[in-house]
Amino acid sequence: NDNRILQFRVTEFGVGEQLLMARDVTRIHHLEQMRKDFVANVSHELKTPLTVLKGYLETLLDTVPEEQPRLRRALTQMESQSDRMEALVTDLLLLSRLENTDADNDRQAVAVHGMLNRMRENAQALSADKHHQIEMDVPTEARLVANPAELESAFGNLITNAVKYTPSGGLIRIQWWQDEKGAHLAVTDNGLGIDPAHIPRLTERFYRPDNSRVTQTGGTGLGLAIVKHVMIRHNGKLDIKSELGKGSTFTCHFPPERLVNRPTAVAG
Ligand code: ADP
Repeated sequence: NDNRILQFRVTEFGVGEQLLMARDVTRIHHLEQMRKDFVANVSHELKTPLTVLKGYLETLLDTVPEEQPRLRRALTQMESQSDRMEALVTDLLLLSRLENTDADNDRQAVAVHGMLNRMRENAQALSADKHHQIEMDVPTEARLVANPAELESAFGNLITNAVKYTPSGGLIRIQWWQDEKGAHLAVTDNGLGIDPAHIPRLTERFYRPDNSRVTQTGGTGLGLAIVKHVMIRHNGKLDIKSELGKGSTFTCHFPPERLVNRPTAVAG
């Protein structure tokens, strides 16, 4: 039984007899590890058949003539659904790696300005038809001791979400600042916003406050879970503030030891 309670009495501390209760968590840990391994294996096993399917679909689309529009439409649908499935598998594998590997692998002094600027340009290109205004307020010298690939995933997810959940003409702001508490990255939008009641569960895998949004935006439902894990691995924290219909701010807080220019910081 997972909820087996072990009870024993402690008398040695001179504070009278106390009842100590401990839950037997060994089995829970074991089940949790089995779940992690299962997800990692399934995602990995799905990769190859998906690649083969996508390859054949591409060839078919190249060969089916324009005069067969129904067939072409069906194949295009199949292609876009397999793209979605591939994005899901990629995110599941990334999450598994974040859960199962040493937190401090590939630690470097990351030039954050260049990374965020590239993302801003990509986001601008991606949302060209939505005419978003994307502002960036990040000092050119900003540096962070971090895993660059993980940072890229976390920041990329926040910026992509801001673009996805902000209607045409909206404003998105990317800000970076440093103070005695560390370094902070905020991505703010004036888009759809989220009912605050949903905020505590937003970083759970596949938790979506509004399922109708998903079909329109085609996300994997894993983006914020990835951001949360990356922040934990960097001893930081993700903070979410939002108001339905007004917009949202997602802030990544990194502790002072992640700053490069601090005398005590270790880079590389
Ligand atoms: P996905 O975007 O793929 O659904 P995420 O984990 O990235 O998955 O986000 C979870 C949910 O949080 C989204 O479905 C959406 O409802 C909400 N959300 C995330 N970012 C924003 C944002 N900037 N504005 C409004 N809602 C957001």
